[in-house]
Amino acid sequence: MEQVLLLNIAYEPLRTIDWKKAITMLCLGKVEVIEEYNREIHSVSFTIRLPSVVRLLRMVKRPKSGVKFSRQNIYARDRYQCQYCGAKNPAEELTYDHVLPKSRGGRTEWKNIVTCCVECNRKKGGRTPGEARMKLIRKPTRPKWLPAIRITIGFRDIPESWRDYLYWNVELLDQ
Ligand SMILES: [Zn+2]
Repeated sequence: MEQVLLLNIAYEPLRTIDWKKAITMLCLGKVEVIEEYNREIHSVSFTIRLPSVVRLLRMVKRPKSGVKFSRQNIYARDRYQCQYCGAKNPAEELTYDHVLPKSRGGRTEWKNIVTCCVECNRKKGGRTPGEARMKLIRKPTRPKWLPAIRITIGFRDIPESWRDYLYWNVELLDQ
């Protein structure tokens, strides 16, 4: 099953899609082919090489209110990294922490929520980072857009043709 890397108009990776979806988008004039695999696809009317990287020809509309405030998006903003000890974990092993505890009036919003590992969350308890002597790696802010995307493919399986387009901020799930 060949995967295709979808880039936005600025050549930044958005996500992976399957090749059938890529061909459909190509036929609809929504994307252009940037890189190809060696394999060819034959249909009754045409033969083309299988795309490996495609680029959207139009801007993707962003929701007006910015990035949705959700657990997944908090993890993405914090690059799946506990903001106290720096451990990187898959989403299932992460939780989130109210920097100023809820019991002290801390709000559930971008600027007061950080990604946290279960252990640090337990250690911090209902205290502020200062009281718990735990330092934040980055001050939480409201992101303008998601700084990282997660590609669920092992690094060794990343097609050669994708490498130029995968920037440092792409989280690779090492299998
Ligand atoms: Zn931690």
